[in-house]
Amino acid sequence: MPRVAVIGDGQLARMMHTEAIELGLQPRVLAGAPDASAAQVFGDVQLGDYTNFDDLHATIQGASAITFDHEHVPNEFLQRLLDEGYNVEPRPQALIYAQDKLEQRMKLKELGAPVPPFAKFDSVEDAREFWELVDGRVCVKATRGGYDGHGVWFPETLQECEQLVTDLLEKGVVLYAEEKVQFARELSAMVARNRDGEVKAWPVAESRQADGVCHIAIAPAPELPAAVAKQCRDLATKIATKLDVTGVLAVELFECIGEDGASKILVNELAMRPHNTGHWTQDGCVTSQFEQHLRAVLNWPLGSVDTLEPVTVMVNTLGAEEDPQMPMEQRVIEVMRRYPEAKVHLYGKSWRPGRKMGHVNVTGYDATSTLAIAQHAAHFIVHANWY
Ligand code: ADP
Repeated sequence: MPRVAVIGDGQLARMMHTEAIELGLQPRVLAGAPDASAAQVFGDVQLGDYTNFDDLHATIQGASAITFDHEHVPNEFLQRLLDEGYNVEPRPQALIYAQDKLEQRMKLKELGAPVPPFAKFDSVEDAREFWELVDGRVCVKATRGGYDGHGVWFPETLQECEQLVTDLLEKGVVLYAEEKVQFARELSAMVARNRDGEVKAWPVAESRQADGVCHIAIAPAPELPAAVAKQCRDLATKIATKLDVTGVLAVELFECIGEDGASKILVNELAMRPHNTGHWTQDGCVTSQFEQHLRAVLNWPLGSVDTLEPVTVMVNTLGAEEDPQMPMEQRVIEVMRRYPEAKVHLYGKSWRPGRKMGHVNVTGYDATSTLAIAQHAAHFIVHANWY
């Protein structure tokens, strides 16, 4: 059975590993440290640095496919590997649109996908001009390297915006800005695509974020009109196809409600790998995003994305301000005792405030009661108390 090399040592690689061994694959990981989330579980660990070409090269020997748990491997390295005949999935030509948010905005606009107005910021003058254009509703973003809200700013006044842009440009951060969207909620349309061009689209999920960090995903998104859900899935399918994405693609969306009450969809951003808003598929779908990603990067037939229950809710367990005294094992046992239906997933990470340490999935019949259980269970994992 083929070897798959995964670059990146976080929880996404770890959860890919679970599926890889179930499929009988030979998974290998390039990890930065032996105690990293994924390095704890892979039998075949290459220690090294994903920004070092030799380390990448050593990791991928004998691999049928090379894939990622993040988007930060230098694009030019991937191109070199591709030129040497290695099967990099997704290809660097596609991955660039997940690496660089400004490239992504320009490409999506070219494809006719709905995006908010945006502009590159090379100077404070650009910031002033854009501030006028969008009436002060400005969201400034670093074009590269952002994650979980790092690299996204919402200046409240023009003065604040000018100061922010001055400081960031001085530090050499490449910037652009887009209109700060007044959205009703955030959605996530996820698809997987293999090299033959087969695409499967999961049901659209609602994702709830705080401070740029995903806290909750509910799938399918409650009360999303069928026509809008189809529009989102079609949009994600089109983006995957036009950009020649292989593997999992997450299209993060804003749902805005117009004065006529109709939904209007805008694209926020793209991720070309399994995504936090797709963790629900582990327990709510015939094929999880991690299995599907592996099938897609190996150019295997894709699995069914049918749901197993009417609704699945995922709630992240993010490190509390203080680590409770109760050992994690005890917390897990308490949750299992109270909620046999709750599926606890932990990433083997030590505590840090706000850190993504795991998640809880619960499937059920209605979003309200299922969400209540998942939140209650996740709260206990984090705080060691019942509210
Ligand atoms: P990251 O790369 O950190 O995930 P995103 O670009 O997804 O960054 O932004 C993080 C969060 O900030 C989004 O989930 C959303 O809640 C908010 N956000 C981003 N762009 C905008 C925007 N144009 N208007 C309003 N909110 C935004």
